[in-house]
Amino acid sequence: MDYPTQYDVIVIGGGHAGTEACLAAARMGSRTLLLTHNIETLGQMSCNPAIGGIGKSHLVKEVDALGGAMATATDLGGIQFRVLNARKGPAVRATRAQADRALYKAAIRNILENQPNLDIFQQAADDLIVENDRVTGVVTNAGLRFLGKTVVITAGTFLGGRIHIGLDNHAGGRAGDPPSIALAERLRALPFRVERLKTGTPPRIDARSVDFSGLEEQWGDEPLPVMSYLGNREQHPRQVCCWITHTNETTHDIIRGGLDRSPMYSGVIEGIGPRYCPSIEDKVHRFADKNSHQIFIEPEGLTTNELYPNGISTSLPFDVQMDLVRSIKGFESAHITRPGYAIEYDFFDPRDLLPSLQTKFIGGLYFAGQINGTTGYEEAAAQGLLAGANAALQAQERDAWSPRRDEAYLGVLVDDLITSGTKEPYRMFTSRAEYRLLLREDNADLRLTEKGRELGLVDDVRWRAFCEKRESIEREQQRLRETWIQPGSDAAKTVEQKLPQPLAREYSLQDLLKRPELEYRDVAALSGEPVSDEWVAEQVEISAKYAGYIDRQRDEIERLQAYEDTPLPVDFDYAAVSGLSNEVIQKLSDARPDTLARAGRVPGVTPAAVSLLLIQLKKRG
Ligand code: FAD
Repeated sequence: MDYPTQYDVIVIGGGHAGTEACLAAARMGSRTLLLTHNIETLGQMSCNPAIGGIGKSHLVKEVDALGGAMATATDLGGIQFRVLNARKGPAVRATRAQADRALYKAAIRNILENQPNLDIFQQAADDLIVENDRVTGVVTNAGLRFLGKTVVITAGTFLGGRIHIGLDNHAGGRAGDPPSIALAERLRALPFRVERLKTGTPPRIDARSVDFSGLEEQWGDEPLPVMSYLGNREQHPRQVCCWITHTNETTHDIIRGGLDRSPMYSGVIEGIGPRYCPSIEDKVHRFADKNSHQIFIEPEGLTTNELYPNGISTSLPFDVQMDLVRSIKGFESAHITRPGYAIEYDFFDPRDLLPSLQTKFIGGLYFAGQINGTTGYEEAAAQGLLAGANAALQAQERDAWSPRRDEAYLGVLVDDLITSGTKEPYRMFTSRAEYRLLLREDNADLRLTEKGRELGLVDDVRWRAFCEKRESIEREQQRLRETWIQPGSDAAKTVEQKLPQPLAREYSLQDLLKRPELEYRDVAALSGEPVSDEWVAEQVEISAKYAGYIDRQRDEIERLQAYEDTPLPVDFDYAAVSGLSNEVIQKLSDARPDTLARAGRVPGVTPAAVSLLLIQLKKRG
C-alpha cells in the first residue's frame, strides 16, 4: 500500500546521522519521515558512551550552532565533562563528555517526538523507488510504500553488516540488532562504488566484580564544561568518577596466544578498521615493544553497573577475552556482561557525492554518516544535519548549501570525503583543518548560526540568545578599545604587578589584553564594568590575543578564494589536458572535483597540474 502522506524528506535510520537529518529537515518546515528499524534504539551509542573529544567537539558545537540536538542531549545526559588540551591554544581545546546512555537516548527521543513536521515510523527500509535516475520513495520490508521528494540514507554499520567474535560470525547491524541486507543489495545494484570497512567494541564489565581500590581515579573538570551554546551546568545530571588501569605483559601474552583465532589475523575480516581506535590485538601486534596500554574505565550510566573499558576493543574469541580481561589490574574477578566484537559493513565511496551529500547518480538521494566511510557519532551527526538540510532545500527548490573549509569542520569533513575518498574509517582531528585558529569550538555559533537562521535551521530562542551574545561581544570590544589607562595611574599600578616593566605610555584595555601576561579578568575591571557572561569574556579575550594570526589566516583564505570560485564542469575531459600525467588524469577522473581548489586537494595532484587545468579552462572560455 502507498502511505497517504507525501513527504518532502524521508530519512532512513535513527542513529546519530539520521536523527540530525530528520530534525534539520523538519526544522526547515519540510514534511519529514524518519523510518527506522526500532524506535527504542533512536540515538543509541553503538560503542563508547561519550560525545566530543579532539576535533569531534568542534563538530558537535557546529551541529549545535545550526540548531541540532547532539549538544543538548549531551548536556542532559553527560555524567563527566572535561576540556581536553585545556592548557594548549584555543584552536585545539576540545570538550568531551562521558554520557549516561539511557539519559542521552531519552533526550534525543524527546527532542524527536516533539519536533513539528516530523513523523517517525518503525520498519526496515528494504528498497528505493527510483524513476528516471531520481528517487521518489522507499519500500519497507512489509511492502509499505512511502513516497517522498528526497531520501537520506543513514544506515550506519548495518548495510551488509557481519558481526565477528573469534572465528564465529553472523549477520547483524550491531549487537542485538538485525542487519540491513535487502537495502544493501539494492544500493549495490546502483552505480555506486562500494567497499567494506570494520570497527569493533570492547567487552563490557559489571562494576560489582571490579576491585577499584588500587586504581587511579579520574574526575571531570570544575567548573563543569557545557556542550551546547544554549546549555547550562544546572542541566547536567550527577557527575561520576572514571578510573584508569593498564594492560601488562601477561595480557599481551594472552592476546598473542589467541591471534590464530582472531578474525582479523586469520584473514576472515577483510574490511579495514579505524587507525585511531585500534583493537587491543592490533595495538599489541603493531606496537610490539610496548609492554602496557592505558585503559579508561568509564561508567555506562548512573543507573547501571555496566562499565566500558575504553582501550580494549577486541574481536578475539570469548575465552581469550575472559583471560585477557582478568589479567588486568582491578579486573582479576571481572564478570563480562557483553562480549566485545567486530563488525564489517558496506560503505559507499564518498567521491560519488556532491558537496551537499546528494549522490551524483541518483537525484534526490543523499547519504550521511558511517555509510560514507566515516566513524564516530559526531562525524555522523554533522553529515546528517547537512544532508537533511540539503534534502529540505531541494524539496523547497532552493539552492544547496555546504560550508567551506574555512567556515567549519563540517566543511573540512565533507571536502575531505568527496575529494579524497577514504580507505579506512575517517575520523575528525583538528590537524585536518588548515584554518584551525578560525575554526575553534568556542566560536562555532559566531561562524554558523546566522547561516543556520537564513536556512531555517535556527529557531527564535537560539537566534535571540545568539544575537544578544554577539552584541555583548561587540559592545565589550568597543569598550576595551575606547578605555585608556594612563601611566602612573592606580589602574596602571595594578596591572604592572603582572608585567615585567611599568607602562611607558597610555594603553587601551584592548592593547593590554593582547599582552601574554594578562587575561581578561586582569584587564577588564581596571576601568568600568567587565561582562559577567563567561562565554562573552572568552570571545573577547581570544579575538584580542590571536588577532594577528587570525588576520593572516583570513588573508590567505582571500588569496585562495579565486580557485574556490572557479568551477570545473562535471564532464571535464582530463585526458584532453596536455601535460597531465596519466596518474593525475586517473585521479581527477575518479574524484571529479567541482572546483579548481578541490582539484588541487585531490591527493597526488600537484600545483603544476592545477595550473594546466586553469589554462585549459581559460581556453574553453
Ligand atoms: P548508526 O548509529 O549505526 O545508526 C544507523 C541507524 O539506521 C540505526 O538506527 C539502524 O537501526 C538504522 N537502519 C539501518 N538500516 C536500516 C534500514 N534498512 N531501515 C530502517 N532503519 C535502518 N565509532 C567511533 O568513533 N569509535 C569507535 O571505536 C567505534 N566503534 C564501534 C563499534 C561498533 C561495534 C559499532 C557498531 C560502531 C562503532 N563506532 C565507533 C561507530 C559509531 O557507532 C558510528 O560511527 C555512528 O553510530 C554512526 O552513526 P550513523 O548514524 O551513521 O549510524
